[in-house]
Amino acid sequence: MNLLIKNIFPVLGAQCVGSDLEAIIDTVSIDSRSLQNGPHTLFFALVGPNNDAHSFIEDLITIGVRNFVVTHVPERCADKANFLVVEDTLVALQRFAAYHRSLFDFPVIGLTGSNGKTIVKEWLNFLLSPDFNVIRSPKSYNSQVGVPLSVLSINEKHNLGIFEAGISTVAEMEKLEKIIRPSIGVLTNIGSSHDEGFDNLEEKIKEKLLLFKHTSVLICQKNDLVDRYLEPRTKAFTWSFVNEAVDVFVFKKELENQDSKLYYKYNGNSYEFTIPFQDQASLENAISCLMAMLYFEYDTATIQSRMALLFPVEMRLKVKDGINNCTLIDDSYSSDFQSLKIALDFLESQKQYQKKTVILSDIFQSGLSNEELYTKVSQLVVSNHINRVIGIGETISAFKDKFANCLTFKNTAEFVANFENLDFTNETILIKGARSFQFEEIVYLLEEKTHETVLEINMNAISYNLNFFKSKLKAKVKLMVMVKAFGYGSGGLEIAKLLEHHKVDYLGVAFADEGISLKNGGIQLPIMVLNPENTSFSAIIQHQLEPEIYCLKGLYAFLKIAKQKNLEHFPIHIKLDTGMHRLGFEENVIEELIAALKGEDSVEVRSILTHMATSDDLKHHDFSVSQIELFDKLSSRIMRELGINPIRHILNTSGISNFPNSQFDMVRLGIGLYGVSNDTAEQKYLENVGTLKTVISQIRLVPVGESVGYGRRFIAQRPTTVATIPIGYADGIARAWGNGVGFVTIKGKKATILGSICMDMMMVDVTDVECTEGDSVIVFGESPTVSEIAQKLHTIPYEILTSISQRVKRVFYR
Ligand SMILES: *Cc1c(COP(=O)(O)O)cnc(C)c1O
Repeated sequence: MNLLIKNIFPVLGAQCVGSDLEAIIDTVSIDSRSLQNGPHTLFFALVGPNNDAHSFIEDLITIGVRNFVVTHVPERCADKANFLVVEDTLVALQRFAAYHRSLFDFPVIGLTGSNGKTIVKEWLNFLLSPDFNVIRSPKSYNSQVGVPLSVLSINEKHNLGIFEAGISTVAEMEKLEKIIRPSIGVLTNIGSSHDEGFDNLEEKIKEKLLLFKHTSVLICQKNDLVDRYLEPRTKAFTWSFVNEAVDVFVFKKELENQDSKLYYKYNGNSYEFTIPFQDQASLENAISCLMAMLYFEYDTATIQSRMALLFPVEMRLKVKDGINNCTLIDDSYSSDFQSLKIALDFLESQKQYQKKTVILSDIFQSGLSNEELYTKVSQLVVSNHINRVIGIGETISAFKDKFANCLTFKNTAEFVANFENLDFTNETILIKGARSFQFEEIVYLLEEKTHETVLEINMNAISYNLNFFKSKLKAKVKLMVMVKAFGYGSGGLEIAKLLEHHKVDYLGVAFADEGISLKNGGIQLPIMVLNPENTSFSAIIQHQLEPEIYCLKGLYAFLKIAKQKNLEHFPIHIKLDTGMHRLGFEENVIEELIAALKGEDSVEVRSILTHMATSDDLKHHDFSVSQIELFDKLSSRIMRELGINPIRHILNTSGISNFPNSQFDMVRLGIGLYGVSNDTAEQKYLENVGTLKTVISQIRLVPVGESVGYGRRFIAQRPTTVATIPIGYADGIARAWGNGVGFVTIKGKKATILGSICMDMMMVDVTDVECTEGDSVIVFGESPTVSEIAQKLHTIPYEILTSISQRVKRVFYR
C-alpha cells in the first residue's frame, strides 16, 4: 500500500484536520503497542465498549506517528498530526478495506461456518500455494476488525485470496461481505457454536449465507436449509457422506494406522485420497479442501500427494519457558509476512527481556520479490529492536547482509548440529518458521524440560474480564487490581504487565517482596502493599512501593524511617477497620491517627480504604451497608481535619457487583479478573482464565475385585480401564478431591478420580473414554470449573487457584 492522505480522506468520508496532505501511508495499525507504528502508519483509534484508543494518541505522536483516524481530535494534539475525523472509526476502517479490495480483481475464496474455518483456510493455503501467490487472513483474523486488517494487506503481486469471516450475531456478515467480496464460497461445518447470537439454526444459516451474495459458486456439505436460502445465481458445489445426489459423494472410509483413506465419486468416476487424520472434523475439513481443488481442476495425482501432507494447525502463539531463563514464543508453523508482523507485536507485548532473538525460516508467498521482501523484513527487525536474527533456509541465507546481527543456516538440521555452539541466555526468542522447516525440533531443543503438567493462562480472557468490570465503573472511578499470591496463582509479573498495558491505576500485593519482584520486573505502576511488616519499610521506600498503614505502631515506625531518610510526601495508604476485624485503625484511635499526621509532610495520605467482610453475601446486606457508612464517616472526618483529599476505596470484586453506588474514588478488583465470580448469575459473563492440564502417563485394565492406589480405597466393580496422570497433592490438588468425589476431563468426557490422590499422581476411570497414553487431560478449566471444585470441597475458588504449586509451569497465551 502506498497512498497519500489527501486521497484517503475522501474514501473514508472524513473531515481532514491537518496540514501535511502529501503524507504517504504504507501501513495501517490499530495497536498502540506495536513498534511497527511509524511516520507512514495510519492509526485507526478504535473505540470499544470500555477501551478507547484515543487515549494513546498523545503517546503515539511522541514516537513519530503522524496520521490518525479519529472521532475527535484529542486535547493538546491538534497541530501535531493529521487527523481524519469520522463518526465511527471502525466503520471507517471497514470502508477503507472495502475500497482497497475494490482495487484488485482476482479470485477470492470466502470461508465461513461454525467450525473449521481457520483449519480449512490454512490447509487451502498449503494446497494451493505452489501454484498461486496467496494472500490469506493471518491466524484467526475473522472479526469485524480482523477482516479489514487482513484485506488491507493485499498487494499487486497476489493472485488468490483466502479470507475467513466469523460472526456471532445477525447483521455482521453483510459488512464482512462488502470487505471480502468473495468470488468463491466455502461453507465449513455449521455446528451449534455461537448459537446464542441467533434465534435458531435457520437464522444462523441465512446470516452466514450472506457472505456468498455475490459468489458464483458455493462449496458446502449437502444441506436442505442451504438449498432453500442460497441466492439462485450461486451454484452449489456439494458433497455428502450419505446422499448420492451431489457433486462429490464420499462413499467409503478406511482407517489404517493414523491415516484415513476416503473414496469418492465425481463426474461418474471413483477416486480416493489419504489424509493423516482420523477424527470426523478433520475428514470434513479435508473434503472442503478437496472440493476447492476439484473446482480449480487439479488432477488426481496432485490432490493425492498434497492431501497426504496435511498437518495439524496451531492457531495460537504460545509462550513457553526456555533453557537458561529464556522465554520462547512458539509460532513454528507459518512464516508469511503478515503473521510475522503479528508475532513481532506479540513479542513486544511480552516485554520479558531487553534482548530479543528471532529464529526465522525462509518466508513464502509474500507476493513480493525476495529483494523487496527481505528489505521489509529487515525494516521490521530494526523497528522492533531485535538484537539477533537466526535465518534458516537457502533464501534467507542469501539475504544475510540485510540484517545487522545475523547467523544463517542452510536448513534446520544444520542449526541443530550447531546448537551446542550457540548461546541462548536471558532473552526472548521468537521461533517462526514455515511448516516444512519443522521448527518443532528447535522448540524442543530450546524448551525447558519439566514435567508435562502446565497451568495455561489465557491472557485475552484476562483482558476481557478486566473490561467487563471496568464497564461497571462510574466515570473517573479508578481501578486497583490485586495481584497478590502470584496473581491468584495465575502468574504475577506477566499479568501485571498486561494490566500496565491496560492502564489500570494501581496494583495491590500482600507483601513487600511481591511488590519488589514486580518492580524488578520493570513494572512502573504504583503498587500498594497490604501487609508491610515493619522490617520491610526500608525496602519499600527503596523500591518506591506504597505501604498500607493499619495501626499506630506501624505509623510511628514508618514516620521515623521517613524522617531519617528525609522523605517528603511519601505516599501511604490508611486502612480503617469497619467490621472485618483483620487489619485497620478502629474508630477509637482515629483521633490519635489524625494528630500523628497533622502537619506531617514526610508522608502523604494517598488513599484511605477499608475492606468488606460480606460483600458477596446478600444475607448480610445490612452489615455491609453499616461498614460503608462507617467508612464514609471516618474517612470524611480524617479528610476534613487534615484538609486532604485522598482516593477513597472499599469495594472488592463482589463489592463491585453488589454495591455499585459505593465505588467512591477507586475499587479493588481481585478474583473477578481471574474469571471467577461469587455470583452464579455473573459467572456466565466472565471468561475462563486458567486451564490446568496434564497428560496420561499409563493406561491399564483392572479386573473386577482388584484395587487401585494407596489403602485399596477403590475396588473395581466392573472391568475398569484406569489412566494414571502425573499430578497430585504436591501440585496443589486437594486429597479430598479423590475417592470418587472429583473428576478430570479427557477427550471431552468426565473421568472420575479413583482411590486416593497420591503426592505426584492420581488414577482416573477411563473405561468409557476412548483415549491413549499421552492424551491431554484437563484437571480444571471449562470443566470442571474452579468454582465447581470449590463447592464440592466446601471451600472457595480462591483457595483452589492459589494452591496450585509453583512447580507447575505457567504458560501464557493469546
Ligand atoms: C484480596 C483483596 C481484595 C480483592 O478481593 P477479591 O474478592 O478477590 O476481589 C481487595 N481488597 C483487599 C484488602 C484484599 O485483601
